[in-house]
Amino acid sequence: MVALAQGRVFFGVRKNLATAYRVLRVTFPYLFGYRSEYRENTEQYPDRVSARMPEDLPAKVRGILKNDIEKCSGCRYCADVCPVNCIEIETEVGPDRSLSWVSVFDIDHSKCIFCGMCVESCPTGSLIHTKEYEASTEKLDSLVMGFGRGWVTQNMKDAWNREQQAKEAKAEEAAVNELSPISAEIKRRLEGS
Ligand code: SF4
Ligand code: SF4
Repeated sequence: MVALAQGRVFFGVRKNLATAYRVLRVTFPYLFGYRSEYRENTEQYPDRVSARMPEDLPAKVRGILKNDIEKCSGCRYCADVCPVNCIEIETEVGPDRSLSWVSVFDIDHSKCIFCGMCVESCPTGSLIHTKEYEASTEKLDSLVMGFGRGWVTQNMKDAWNREQQAKEAKAEEAAVNELSPISAEIKRRLEGS
């Protein structure tokens, strides 16, 4: 009976020593840092002295998103692919009828999981991840970042219509000038009658 108890203690100790050995084999090298992969991997944050700056971060780091609205076509691919629905887009007809006017383009960074799928799916390259990561705030609303052009006003519509009419008149005049002198004269007389 005593021998059985001693055997159990022996195997228990041996098992614990083996576990301790396996753990120390992983953690000990970090204590001395004798190879580069065992040196410091973490940083104090925030630490103005030793912390890395955004420009020190790797090129593909996924920081706060930014949209160059001049290049954005309003196609919504980014919003459709976003797994947490944190991109809101509203489009209207703009001065160029073949292109959407992106009135609203809001990204709610309080919901964003920085997966990068929106950036990957953007066909124009207008949406990018910056290297910026400092965004702590007490107000969640301030994490909604807007890049939209704003809603189209009546004044803007009137100005665009005037521009369009001027363009059409110019194109028509160019077409008339391309006609033979006789055809152009006939057209002018018909318009004058
Ligand atoms: S990074 Fe991911 S979660 Fe964030 S807006 Fe893009 S798709 Fe959505
Ligand atoms: S995918 Fe790119 S171009 Fe299309 S709406 Fe989003 S940011 Fe704009």
